[in-house]
Amino acid sequence: MTKIKKIQIINEIRISAIIPISEVNGPGPHYTIWVQGCSLNCKGCFNPLTHDRELGKVEKISDIVQDIKKLWLEKKLTGITITGGEPFQQIDQIIILTKQIKAQTDLGIIILTGYSPRELEQFLNIQSLTKNVDLIIAGRFRKEMKIQSGLKGSSNKKYIFTTDFYKKFDLENIPQMEVFANELGEIIVTGIEPGPVLESIAPEFPSEQ
Ligand code: SF4
Repeated sequence: MTKIKKIQIINEIRISAIIPISEVNGPGPHYTIWVQGCSLNCKGCFNPLTHDRELGKVEKISDIVQDIKKLWLEKKLTGITITGGEPFQQIDQIIILTKQIKAQTDLGIIILTGYSPRELEQFLNIQSLTKNVDLIIAGRFRKEMKIQSGLKGSSNKKYIFTTDFYKKFDLENIPQMEVFANELGEIIVTGIEPGPVLESIAPEFPSEQ
């Protein structure tokens, strides 16, 4: 009897939000993707709406790649940033996405993760990811060590530079937050710790757990 091996084709990713051009999530304009789903439960996380892996929306990876490529061809981007939520809890999808971005553009790629550098070594396919990523910022958010610079939410987080695309100096000069309205008239606030601004706009917003 012939055995048929079932092959899972991954072509979708669950995301919370995308800002196509953000000036505060990388040095220079970065296409920024917040993935949906995180079980790490850092105390004081300022993005709790990204935790539930059933929420958010499912997007085709190819659609995101085409969106990024279009903006890159228009010279509107210097890189992409993947944050969350927890990108490493969808590592297979992130490997596919970053591989396609690197194959089709010259953009830099940053990943923000709550896993520590030592925990990241436990992922069997970590090498498949790091060869297509320029910088990983790794470690749990620790409320008592909170800072707002260099894309770090707390000072315990570590930079893992895998190429020389990004320099520490460039990261230290990123603006802290941005506020803009989208085409639906919604106010979008983003940055490493937008809670106080969000509270002034919408006091009911749960900026901290
Ligand atoms: S800070 Fe990041 S890793 Fe920690 S719970 Fe929030 S989304 Fe998850």
